[in-house]
Amino acid sequence: MSAAPDGALEDLHREIRGCRRCDLWRGRTHAVPGHGPHDSDIMLVGEGPGYHEDLQGLPFVGAAGQFLDQLLRRAGIARAQVFITNVVKCRPPGNRDPAPEEIAACSEYLLTQIALIKPRAIFTLGRFALAALIDEKLTSISRVHGKAYHKRGIIYVPLYHPAAALHNEQLRDTIVEDMARAAALLRRELTPEETPTPQPAQPKQLRLLDM
Ligand code: URA
Ligand code: SF4
Repeated sequence: MSAAPDGALEDLHREIRGCRRCDLWRGRTHAVPGHGPHDSDIMLVGEGPGYHEDLQGLPFVGAAGQFLDQLLRRAGIARAQVFITNVVKCRPPGNRDPAPEEIAACSEYLLTQIALIKPRAIFTLGRFALAALIDEKLTSISRVHGKAYHKRGIIYVPLYHPAAALHNEQLRDTIVEDMARAAALLRRELTPEETPTPQPAQPKQLRLLDM
């Protein structure tokens, strides 16, 4: 599976940085298009930029981001190898929930990123990414977290949002386990020996760290 040329994603990100499709542009310091390799096997999708993300123009760089780093490390996934983005690319004022019309205005960017990056797996972080990408009726994350959904050739795994889990001991254990299980599932599903149809070229390895 070959990813699109880097230029296409760069162009999209430039468009996002200047976007005024919804009112969230008014309060932003920087839009946060997303960050990571343009041919990542794994995409992580959060809710929207917070205070630090808005200042730096980068996703998950605050406290939730540090916790996410730990989660990935413990699951044997290198953060540098995943593409991280959000449902909305500009910070909702005071970190309020993104509004339905803001999500609708921004969702084309997320779908285009997925089409360009062509990840093997997408982990959704929190209920907004769950609703946006897996099923808009699946709003009860407590029932679906950690399960794998196969949709149009991509494995989706809904996870709790790291910011929610950060201050809740029970959720913290759950998200640690879910992330580790999702990583193990990907290793199993995506190892070349188990690829159902042999690829003509050397199949792209899922780049996870060995534990
Ligand atoms: N929370 C999110 O949902 N996204 C970020 O980028 C940071 C915090
Ligand atoms: Fe544009 Fe999305 Fe920012 Fe709204 S949140 S201004 S749609 S980039």
